[in-house]
Amino acid sequence: MTYFHGTDGAAATATERELPDLSRDEIQRYSRHLILPDVALDGQRRLKAARVLLVGAGGLGSPLGLYLAAAGIGTIGLVDFDVVDLTNLQRQLLHGTKDVGRPKLDSARDRIADVNPHVHVESYETRLTSANALEILEPYDVVIDGTDNFATRYLVNDACVLLGKPNVYGSIFRFEGQASLFADANGPCYRCLFREPPPAGLVPSCAEGGVLGVLPGLVGTIQATEAIKRILGIGETLVGRLLLVDALTMRFRTVNVRRNPACPACGTRALRELIDYDAFCGVAAHPNVDGHGTNGGNGRQEVPEIGPRELARRLSSADESIDLIDVREPHEWHIARIPGARLVPLGNLDQALTTIDAGRDTIVYCRSGARSAKAVRTLKAAGHKRVWNLAGGVLRWSDEVDPTVAKY
Ligand SMILES: [Zn+2]
Repeated sequence: MTYFHGTDGAAATATERELPDLSRDEIQRYSRHLILPDVALDGQRRLKAARVLLVGAGGLGSPLGLYLAAAGIGTIGLVDFDVVDLTNLQRQLLHGTKDVGRPKLDSARDRIADVNPHVHVESYETRLTSANALEILEPYDVVIDGTDNFATRYLVNDACVLLGKPNVYGSIFRFEGQASLFADANGPCYRCLFREPPPAGLVPSCAEGGVLGVLPGLVGTIQATEAIKRILGIGETLVGRLLLVDALTMRFRTVNVRRNPACPACGTRALRELIDYDAFCGVAAHPNVDGHGTNGGNGRQEVPEIGPRELARRLSSADESIDLIDVREPHEWHIARIPGARLVPLGNLDQALTTIDAGRDTIVYCRSGARSAKAVRTLKAAGHKRVWNLAGGVLRWSDEVDPTVAKY
């Protein structure tokens, strides 16, 4: 990589890297940029010189990958270890129906090559961890957080703080989203705002709580806009501001965020190294059945489990001692359920305690096993001793016992 130095002898920054020339094809392709005075030829060459890392090739990563490629970002790094699932296609436009079952990195690479063959894609088929994050992030100018879980979000933040890389943040849930630009230009970082993660299981993931399919399109496009502005050095970025998007009311608000001198990442007692973010976020060390390895974990407290096959055996032997309780929401019950269960949504469990006979074996389930783990804790706290969580919930039941029970 070629750098040149200013006349004052100071080391050049990445944005001062020697800018590459554009081919005839590229000049034609980017003509709507080239006639924009704020971009123009130098700006387009800056985009071509830029190296941007996308952590996650999912909901946010889709519009990010497509727009950054179309805009002519020269090198896009992609970190993902997931496989395309039918449930992804409602929002993850990098992947198509024909890609179901393929690694997301493969379909993302094909799609990006089709959008713009001038883009160089570097892929990392791995989960971002404390052991590999610094090495993966180091060669990039801008890091974009398109993750769906707290452990990776804190890891990306802390790695960006340690390396001095701008972190283009975005997150989504149901109908709401957030975006900001962290760890840049003396602005705050994610942990100035959210010092510590919420208790494990308190905030459901999109897999548990749902998300409007277009929302990651909206928020990811905002992130792409911020990344491009940052690379071009134009406009006013979201440094020091948190953008809040509410798709239902279609209201956008920004709140000012100051750098916190006592921030555990970028403050006076600054971070020296990465930590174990799964432990920090109270996540079980193994990835959960959603494949996200996320905040749906069971936390530190022991929750007794029963496997789907064992439950099926007991149900088929007409075992009268079992009280099978589904703790999901009524609309989920209508999508799929395990025969013989009764519905007690988690939020109503406290009021329903009197209907649960402590003398019987109570088995609770939800979609993936995270909410029902909470139900087990609630029941145990209420004095119930014979309580088990159905491991993997409806998803594993469908895989291992009855595929006619729909996965969603
Ligand atoms: Zn901070």
